Amino acid sequence: MILKTYREKRNFSRTPEPQPNRLGNSKVPIFVVQKHKATTLHFDFRLEIGGVLKSWAVPKEPTLNSKIKRLAIMTEDHPLEYQNFEGIIPEGNYGAGSVEIWDKGNFLPFSGSINDLELGLKTGHLSIILNGRKLKGEFALTRFKNAKTKNAWLLIKAEDEYSKIDR
Ligand code: MN
Repeated sequence: MILKTYREKRNFSRTPEPQPNRLGNSKVPIFVVQKHKATTLHFDFRLEIGGVLKSWAVPKEPTLNSKIKRLAIMTEDHPLEYQNFEGIIPEGNYGAGSVEIWDKGNFLPFSGSINDLELGLKTGHLSIILNGRKLKGEFALTRFKNAKTKNAWLLIKAEDEYSKIDR
């Protein structure tokens, strides 16, 4: 079953979040960043890879500052339909709180084909070009090598014409 963990964490009669129906398949893969005011505020960074939204929780706002490394904790895959989700997850549900779309757009791998993205997830290194309203240009997602922190990645803006050092 696809998205098993996503389903197990949720009761779809009690949350407005989308119930997954099928794998997605956009012509050009999409990314979305959702500002999630749950127990602690964080930014959910999601990339369409392999028909689902691979997801990371980023504790602080993503930045174009190439000197800043943002911690990004990998969380459960979300259905592609989640890209449009905004709303309130009621108290008592997983992730209770408000969700709003902070940024959205398409992305491509920095080199190679979109089929190489799944390999990047396995090897722990993704280099991507984002085309959002706020996030633009090359970013790297790199997994920590320490096995104890296997879900911990770093999200870093690469230096290019979109990178800034003042924010
Ligand atoms: Mn979240």
